Amino acid sequence: MEDLKELDKLYIANTYSRFPVEIKYGEGSIISDEEGKQYIDMGGGIAVNIFGMQDKAWKNAVISQLNKFQHTSNLYYTEPCVTLAKLLIEKTGMKKVFFSNSGAEANECAIKAIRKYAQDKKGPDYYTIITLKNSFHGRTLATLAATGQEDYHKDFLPLTEGFISVTPGDINELESTVKNNKCAGILIETIQGEGGVVPLDPNYIQQVYSLAQEKDLVFAIDEVQTGNGRTGKLYSYMHYSIKPDIFTTAKGLGGGLPIGATVLGEKVEFVLSAGKHGSTFGGNPVCAAGAVSIISRINDKLLSDVMQKSEIVFETLSQAPGIKSVTGKGLMIGIETEKEVDKVVNECIEKGVLVLKAKNKVRLVPPLNIGVSELKKALNIILEVCTAI
Ligand SMILES: *Cc1c(COP(=O)(O)O)cnc(C)c1O
Repeated sequence: MEDLKELDKLYIANTYSRFPVEIKYGEGSIISDEEGKQYIDMGGGIAVNIFGMQDKAWKNAVISQLNKFQHTSNLYYTEPCVTLAKLLIEKTGMKKVFFSNSGAEANECAIKAIRKYAQDKKGPDYYTIITLKNSFHGRTLATLAATGQEDYHKDFLPLTEGFISVTPGDINELESTVKNNKCAGILIETIQGEGGVVPLDPNYIQQVYSLAQEKDLVFAIDEVQTGNGRTGKLYSYMHYSIKPDIFTTAKGLGGGLPIGATVLGEKVEFVLSAGKHGSTFGGNPVCAAGAVSIISRINDKLLSDVMQKSEIVFETLSQAPGIKSVTGKGLMIGIETEKEVDKVVNECIEKGVLVLKAKNKVRLVPPLNIGVSELKKALNIILEVCTAI
């Protein structure tokens, strides 16, 4: 482990401050480190491992595709990405899918589709996209510009222009921003994940949707973290009576392999024509086969299990000593603790629970199929840590 740490530091760009754990093995929601110590995984590889480590059905789907071929290119037809697209469209009522490899790329495609729609329809000046303060949309220069947090911007200026971020919950600010700028669309998360698991007010979401419809703005939802069953619906927008023109997803979609999707509704279905966008790896057959296995199993039974486990989390943690607030939906949970968050996270890891951080919150995004007894055990350890001095 010490050797690995040294070599990592020597050879890998120092962009990550890692926890002092080397992951060696995992099964379901249990992970072992280099010394054989076991942990309950409440982070799921940052909301990625929907069915945990080494999920059998997912592994079979991936291996079976690997036994045929691993990659070709988007110059040829392949079956897994078509099957995946059909599944996504049938389950959402959207129209078309563009596949990429990450959340940031899925959002890049959404940004291009929003701009192209507005420029085709309203003219070249209509390129401004409104996003929210405290949002997170990725690390590329355009998605950084979309990200409404200056901390992420500084050192990398100038960013792609044409983004304005407004205060979440303030519909007047949004209305005046739309009025005073030549706007193309609006991009939001329903729950600001990296921003600290902060849910938007459902009323506000409704108002944003209505305004977008009224002004013919492309309404896009970033479901990179909230998607794929995470909040107790297949996609989080399904909790509200709204229909986005575009939603993007990644993280959990591939169950652990890199894949992103930009899912287009009627309004923008034909906006990106041949040659307007592309990706070498996008829709890779191995990743897509894995994703088919994931998406086809996110059914009503699984989603109701997610909601039941969510209730257990809220019942156990809300109003418990040492805990100030619990936010989120489904199995995307933010916990505000009295104790300093880094301390809580490190002590949880010491006691065998891998939790994440988001801003000043402890964040839980475990595998959706985590066992109830594992979940309860992890929650008790979190409680213990939060109350111990
Ligand atoms: C993680 C995340 C992204 C970026 O996804 P990458 O796969 O890291 O590029 C974008 N938006 C949201 C809401 C995210 O949580």
